[in-house]
Amino acid sequence: MEYLSEYRIHLIPATCVTPCWLRLIHSEIKDIKNEPVLEFRRGSPELAALQKALKDLQGKMEEIPCMVGGEEVWTKDVRYQVSPYDHSQKVAKYCYADKELINKAINAAVSVRRDWDLKPLRDRAEIFLKAADLISGPRRAEVLAKTMIGQAKTIVQAEIDAAAELIDFLRFNAKYALDLQNDQPISCHPSTNKMVYRGLEGFVAAVSPFNFTAIGGNLAGAPALMGGVVLWKPSDTAILSGYAVYQILLEAGLPPNVIQFVPADGPVFGDTVTSSEHLAGINFTGSVQTFKRLWKQVSENLDQYRTFPRLAGECGGKNFHFVHKSADVNSVVNATIRSVFEYGGQKCSACSRMYVPDSLWPQIKEQLIEEVKKIKVGNPVEDLSTFFSAVIDEKAFGRIRKWLQHAHSSPNLSILTGGKCDDTVGYFVEPTIIETKDPKDPIMEEEIFGPVLTVYVYPGNKYEEILHLIDATSPYGLTGAVFAQDKGVINEATRLLRNAAGNFYINDKSTGAVVAQQPFGGSRASGTNDKPGGPHYILRWTSPQAIKETHVPLTEWKYPYMS
Ligand code: NAD
Repeated sequence: MEYLSEYRIHLIPATCVTPCWLRLIHSEIKDIKNEPVLEFRRGSPELAALQKALKDLQGKMEEIPCMVGGEEVWTKDVRYQVSPYDHSQKVAKYCYADKELINKAINAAVSVRRDWDLKPLRDRAEIFLKAADLISGPRRAEVLAKTMIGQAKTIVQAEIDAAAELIDFLRFNAKYALDLQNDQPISCHPSTNKMVYRGLEGFVAAVSPFNFTAIGGNLAGAPALMGGVVLWKPSDTAILSGYAVYQILLEAGLPPNVIQFVPADGPVFGDTVTSSEHLAGINFTGSVQTFKRLWKQVSENLDQYRTFPRLAGECGGKNFHFVHKSADVNSVVNATIRSVFEYGGQKCSACSRMYVPDSLWPQIKEQLIEEVKKIKVGNPVEDLSTFFSAVIDEKAFGRIRKWLQHAHSSPNLSILTGGKCDDTVGYFVEPTIIETKDPKDPIMEEEIFGPVLTVYVYPGNKYEEILHLIDATSPYGLTGAVFAQDKGVINEATRLLRNAAGNFYINDKSTGAVVAQQPFGGSRASGTNDKPGGPHYILRWTSPQAIKETHVPLTEWKYPYMS
């Protein structure tokens, strides 16, 4: 069948001269690789390019409009995005779309849906692959610099997010979509069967969080790749990088109104999109409270939709490191420091509760405290040795400060290191380690989303009880790690913690999932576990149609058994 061979693509490394998107036809799809993570060593060309991009942004404030109906639109509700590590520095001026403008965007989206959906998948994929090439090459430094100054990421954290992960999402989603289209049903003479992967009928609301530039691009990009039209509501604190990604998609050839960029007050956006009869899906990443609110609104409005909206939500976590007495102590210490403190603990996968056997605790405690004292918290642009920077905004800072106050005042908790915070210049929180006597203290159950680890020390011979305790302690089920050399313990932990984590690590930190290697997501309160970064994810954003065509006339309505 023609369509089986038409969409075979070959993705070549970013360094090759011919861009990937020009080589779509007649080549191989299977060679696609993860984007290499650049190291930014002193003297490297990537560091020079990044430093130039950072210099270009210094002291500047970008003006970012809503992009609705193919036009730049400004409303009177003007807002500013500031640098978290220096909140006197405004990095973007933008405005909130009001209800009327959001409704205008819905109409504009619906008006282009048919044409976009009827475009061959190959043509749509070319646009996203071109965007990946632009980010991999000429626009990389800009997107990284905007992620660093707007979301307070260090170089490596910006690189693994805004370059590597975003590029991988764009390329692998295209590959998975083309693979899906290539995998057709069987046909039996005298008929042929075909599956057509249609975009969702209506519009998809993509609502993104602040903490990953890549997630915004993926939430908006994946439904559009599959033929859908999207209203992208970025996070207030990731407008600068989000708009850069949006501009790159347009530059790569995305037609107007296929994705519209609609910054807005969260509840105004949520209330408006869930009231529209055209809502076909919500692609959400953020807190569980927000997702539950959206889900409830959808269920309240169910009678008025033309189709059942798809609801995909990736939410929070209370991720654990479980340490068995057979564990390698150095791995535990280094992996825990990375997982807890990278990006100031503002990854949904960050470890925030740890269970350590009494026999290993003295050694682990000493090493953890010693290493944490070496962590530099500061301005990631001015000081490249910074390990993490300020937390995202005043609200997050206030929430974390409350947890620190709880730790200072509770008789169950003792602060082993850190415990202070200061928002005079930026929203800085010290790397903090707390020991708890009560494994059910709220600090072991609720998401903090900051650089805070709480440790519970258990009697080493009672590790099975602890595995049950870990499973039952928090409403979340996102990520978790087991550190043990004893294979029997690893097997037992894998079995007992089967539902406690959607991404489960053995002798590795609980963070750092890579697209196409560890598709990401969890269940329970952590979300719908649709596994972005894996082949299943794009299925959420298509409404398949099965077409059967019969090639000979039907000459009789009676069945043979009737004669
Ligand atoms: P958030 O819920 O505050 O905001 C997420 C987005 O929802 C923002 O764009 C916000 O403006 C918008 N919003 C807020 N109220 C809304 C409403 N009523 N209707 C529609 N939209 C609304 O979350 P955040 O602080 O940006 O992100 C942090 C959270 O995201 C953490 O809980 C973290 O664990 C989670 N997260 C999860 C994953 C994952 O893959 N599981 C990845 C990243 C972040």
